[in-house]
Amino acid sequence: MLPVERRNRIKNLIQERQNMKISELSELLKVSEMTIHRDLKPLIEEGFVSKSFGGVTWSEVENESPHSTQSSNTCVICQRAVCERLAYRIIRNDNQIEMACCAHCGLLRHQQLGSDVMQAICHDFLRQTTISAGSAWYVMDTSVQIDCCQPQVLTFELQEHAEKFVTGFGGQVFDFTAATERLHQKMKEHGSGCPHHD
Ligand SMILES: [Zn+2]
Ligand SMILES: [Zn+2]
Repeated sequence: MLPVERRNRIKNLIQERQNMKISELSELLKVSEMTIHRDLKPLIEEGFVSKSFGGVTWSEVENESPHSTQSSNTCVICQRAVCERLAYRIIRNDNQIEMACCAHCGLLRHQQLGSDVMQAICHDFLRQTTISAGSAWYVMDTSVQIDCCQPQVLTFELQEHAEKFVTGFGGQVFDFTAATERLHQKMKEHGSGCPHHD
C-alpha cells in the first residue's frame, strides 16, 4: 500500500469509528506505531483528527469553523489575531506550534506549559530580528503603546537597546524570569486589561 493510500485509509477509519487507538491502527494496517504517528501528523495539522487520551479522535465538526482555537493565526491565550511583528511563538516538545499575540500572552502561555516548551521565539521590537525568548530582554511600564494586551510587554534582543529604549520612553527592563514574575505581580495588582483573562 502506498503511503498516500494508507493515510487515506487511516482517515476513513477514524471517520467511521470516531475514536481509535494508535495500536488498533497499527494492527489493522500492519505497520509500526511509529509509521501511524507519522501518517497522523498531517491529518492532525489539517484539523481532521485530534489527539485524545491514548489515541485519536475525528474532529471534522470543529474543522468547519475556520477559526477554531487551533488556528495558527489567533492567540492561544486571548484569541486575538496574531500580528507577526509582535508574535511570540512557542514550539512544544511534540513540535506543535502555538502562537501568542504578544509577549504578554506569550509569557503567560510559556509559564502554563512549563517544561513542555522546546523553544520560544519572539521579535526584537526595534529591529524585528528573531530572538530566543529565554535570552530576550523585556520592557514593561513604558509609555509607548503597542495596542495589544495590558500590561504590555515589549521584547528586545540586546539589553543595551532595551535600556536605551527605557531611557527615551520610560519603563523597566527585565530578563525572562523577572518579566514573567513582574507580569503576574502586575496582573494581581491591577487586574488585566485583556477581557479574556478574567
Ligand atoms: Zn493574546
Ligand atoms: Zn497581546
